[in-house]
Amino acid sequence: MTPDYTLAEGCPYPQSTTSVQLRDGTGGGLVLLQDTQLIETLAHFSRERIPERVVHAKAAGAYGEFEVTHDCSDITSASFLNTVGKKTDVLLRISTVGPERGSADTSRDVHGWAMKLYTDEGNFDWVFNNTPVFFVRDPIKFPSMNRSHKRHPRTNMPDSDMFWDFHVGNPEGIHELMHLFSDRGTPASLRHMNAYSGHTYKFTKEDGSFKYVKVHIKTQIGVRNLDRETAVKLAGENPDFLVEDLFQAIEKGDYPVWDVYVQVMDPSEAETYKWNIFDMTKVWPHKDYPLRQIGRLTMNRNPRNYFTDIEQAAFSPGNMVPGIAPTADPMLQARMFAYADAARYRLGVNYQQLPTNHAKVPIYSPFQRDGFMNFTANYGDDPNYVGSTLKPTTYKTAGNGRRGGLSTLTEHEKWTGEVSSFTSEIGPEDYEQAADLWEVLGREPGHQDRFVGNVADHLSKGKSSKLRVMVYELFSRVNKDLGSRIRAATEEIAL
Ligand code: NDP
Repeated sequence: MTPDYTLAEGCPYPQSTTSVQLRDGTGGGLVLLQDTQLIETLAHFSRERIPERVVHAKAAGAYGEFEVTHDCSDITSASFLNTVGKKTDVLLRISTVGPERGSADTSRDVHGWAMKLYTDEGNFDWVFNNTPVFFVRDPIKFPSMNRSHKRHPRTNMPDSDMFWDFHVGNPEGIHELMHLFSDRGTPASLRHMNAYSGHTYKFTKEDGSFKYVKVHIKTQIGVRNLDRETAVKLAGENPDFLVEDLFQAIEKGDYPVWDVYVQVMDPSEAETYKWNIFDMTKVWPHKDYPLRQIGRLTMNRNPRNYFTDIEQAAFSPGNMVPGIAPTADPMLQARMFAYADAARYRLGVNYQQLPTNHAKVPIYSPFQRDGFMNFTANYGDDPNYVGSTLKPTTYKTAGNGRRGGLSTLTEHEKWTGEVSSFTSEIGPEDYEQAADLWEVLGREPGHQDRFVGNVADHLSKGKSSKLRVMVYELFSRVNKDLGSRIRAATEEIAL
């Protein structure tokens, strides 16, 4: 008989559902230490969880393709973007940020969007959010900000006071708070969601020239959101509502499609632009930098196994291909370190060799030796060091001298000045774009009312009346009526 399963070493083991027992003739029996299958089954079960992501734990994922729709060879030499019609395989993972892996995905939160493009020049990881800005612009605040959105160390519960205390003390996040408490904080489905790079990247060409870009991904079926009451109800009825919707749509062949655009800025304009273009709390207004389409994204295949395909997937904005390059955006620089660092902790130092993370390139030859779980690339029998005369090692590149990640040094990378603490002082300009968004919400009937209700609902769960007053003042700086409307709505709930 062909066994259903084998031992982990591959040896057949016909009884997959029973342990081996020494029968005593009374119907009972003793299990034996020699029962390798029993030992293996129990021991592996105890070890089948890996560390949960500290942020972005609850997610859905899918495979699909990125297709170039418009020529953009004037702004980038990226191989995957070089021909209209060219397609590149993509892995997409969409998540909430703060809550744990088992949490309700209709919770109000920013939604993360991470893509791995398996290009012919190595993997390009592109990370987005469903909001175009972020809560902080100094990366050292990132852990505190995230912890303030999580559980209180004493009560082990999410804590409204802790949340608002952080944001009142770090008001550069006001623009992002406006997005979070708008309807877009609770998307109706992952298919009805846009995504934004937030970060400023560079598109580079082989002659060393570059443009600054921000990337926008817009759903073809339009943005749709849940109101607060529906989101809360769904969180109880089906905590996996968004995950299920994406999975079922793809399963039925109703593939979600997004158009991919860039805003393009010349480096000379960056120097004189009204806002610091590396400040992640600011957008580039459309009227100054209109969207230019470059591609289309279609997700058309569900993962076969969530753990191996999505949970083991690791994304780092540090993974760039020739034609794309980082900028002096401090949050981007920090994420380029922190994401890969998190993956090394969570999955081990050779995580890039896991099938879902493995580059699909003809020559795969990272100069890395050994480490836990090294199973596909160990630099063979080459010497252990670069530059050997005993057996000269050749850098196994495509041979065209193109390098990923780093562009040629330009004037924007030659930095001079004193080293000092990063100043994250808040000025009136930090409220300008938040105020613009308040006006944008006013274009849609009822949206401003819902925004006020969403903030008041969250704020009324806190205990500190002093903090509440500070929150009213924070929103008054966006719009003078907004603070008093939030006060009135909060007091009404708290009564
Ligand atoms: P515009 O006045 O040209 O357009 C407003 C944009 O806001 C729309 O294009 C839409 O972006 C987005 N939007 C519409 N409804 C909502 C909503 N309910 N919640 C959040 N965003 C919404 O925009 P400006 O460029 O002059 O910017 C005005 C404000 O719009 C900004 O302060 C910013 O908060 C917000 N915004 C701006 C973006 C940008 O990159 N310039 C991107 C997204 C929002 P989309 O089509 O991408 O959905």
